[in-house]
Amino acid sequence: QSQKAKKKEGAADTLLAIQFKKMESFPDWYSDVIRLSEMISYYNISGCYILRPWSYSIWESIQDWFNAQLKPLEVSNSYFPMFVSKSRLEKEKDHVEGFAPEVAWVTKSGDGDLAEPIAIRPTSETIMYPAFSDWISSHRDLPLKLNQWSNVVRWEFKNPTPFLRTREFLWQEGHTAHATYDEADTMVMQALELYRGVYEDLLAIPVIRGFKTEKERFAGGHQTTTCEAYIPASGRAIQGATSHNLGQNFGKMFDITFQDQDGKTAIPWQTSWGITTRTIGVMVMVHGDDQGLVLPPRIAPLQIVIVPIASKKCGYDKLGPYCEALKEKFAAQGLRVKYDGRTIYNPGWKFNHWEQKGVPIRVEVGPRDMENNQARVCIRHNGEKIDKPIDGIAEFAKDQMEVIQKAMFDKIKKERDDHLVTVTEWKDFVPNLEKGNLILTPWCGPEFQEEEEEVKDKSKAEALERAGQEAEDERCSVSVAGKTLCIPFEQPELKEGTKCFYTGKVAKCWVLWGKSY
Ligand code: AMP
Repeated sequence: QSQKAKKKEGAADTLLAIQFKKMESFPDWYSDVIRLSEMISYYNISGCYILRPWSYSIWESIQDWFNAQLKPLEVSNSYFPMFVSKSRLEKEKDHVEGFAPEVAWVTKSGDGDLAEPIAIRPTSETIMYPAFSDWISSHRDLPLKLNQWSNVVRWEFKNPTPFLRTREFLWQEGHTAHATYDEADTMVMQALELYRGVYEDLLAIPVIRGFKTEKERFAGGHQTTTCEAYIPASGRAIQGATSHNLGQNFGKMFDITFQDQDGKTAIPWQTSWGITTRTIGVMVMVHGDDQGLVLPPRIAPLQIVIVPIASKKCGYDKLGPYCEALKEKFAAQGLRVKYDGRTIYNPGWKFNHWEQKGVPIRVEVGPRDMENNQARVCIRHNGEKIDKPIDGIAEFAKDQMEVIQKAMFDKIKKERDDHLVTVTEWKDFVPNLEKGNLILTPWCGPEFQEEEEEVKDKSKAEALERAGQEAEDERCSVSVAGKTLCIPFEQPELKEGTKCFYTGKVAKCWVLWGKSY
């Protein structure tokens, strides 16, 4: 027998448990969970990961939901090449400045040098808009609303984190052109609403929507809106997805014009918006526990797994048909269900396996259950165990899916809200960052970029000093600094005369800050 075959055989008997506790060693816990749940395999190029079927099928669920939502908005899917010439990439000055440090270039084919290096898309504005220029000439050609599902490459300098910050990632990118600013603005908000839906309705993660400050907005764009999520275990925020109003900037650069209804030449108003496989990592971090993944039912690849507990007297031959019949009942309710009748693994192994993979409900069937015409329903997210008669069990499970989905959302929302504080003076800023809080402060205005940078630097210095550290590793993917997350759409009342918590100038709005990924 080969070593490999022996190793494989051995692997059938053992199942590694998650070695780390979520609240004690969060990064190690995360790495364990995504590997042992069979979501991710590591790869030999830094920042690149293999998405195994368990995570890819979650991405497919997001795609299915998203595509269905795009239909009524009349956004069509299409596909553009992944390569972009240097001249096109560099056409919009601010855009290229924003992305230049992260662009990966192809410089050779075989042994020979290419005549001109070709970039791999970090995003597709500069790839799509020359085509927009060809296609748009009249107001009748507008609005043009396209989406594409693709991979992009951003050669990030900071240390990568699977799903959250990777060098190649999967996303959708929407790109639209409109006759008026208002129409474009409506599209920006519609896309952001879809992102809220992905996080809140599918992944059971509450988000805060708002505008980015000028410093944080998309390179070359006019205004960026965002969905910000919060990860209680690390006390950090993360930019969930962004929807940009590009204004007329790219239209000017790529010579996109149209004859309006009065016969005058005009430049269209454009938008672009994207959500990535980061979603999956945020979901793992937010909902996972010491046993592994906890999946919200709406996106769980499997919602129910049936595990037989065979004994000498009552073996798989007897339990099998009972479980198969049960499976049919669940399937008839539209539930995604599997009967795990494998005889090479014992029930304990299977419990652990499916717990690590986060399946919302495990149904156990032993000899006594068969005798009593019942089964035991075990709920993953809260550990509850309920014995249920077979009659009505499938209906019960179907209802439970919504109950679980809501309970998971409510739990995280409460944790998030418990960490949302208001700060009006600098002295309270860093101590609240240290507590892992999201901080609302009065702010002098979205255009104060230098002051915003100062807050970041000063909070970092103060936090390091309080921790007795000298400096932070530049490549570290997480910083102790406070960053603006957004100017929330929902603004608390700003009383007249309120001062900016940092500059002391008259405050114009409330800004949300936090430590972030
Ligand atoms: P952008 O086109 O820069 O607005 O990016 C769209 C969204 O992609 C952001 O809002 C992030 O949620 C996500 N994102 C950005 N960089 C990465 C990355 N390196 N890996 C995964 N997701 C990312």
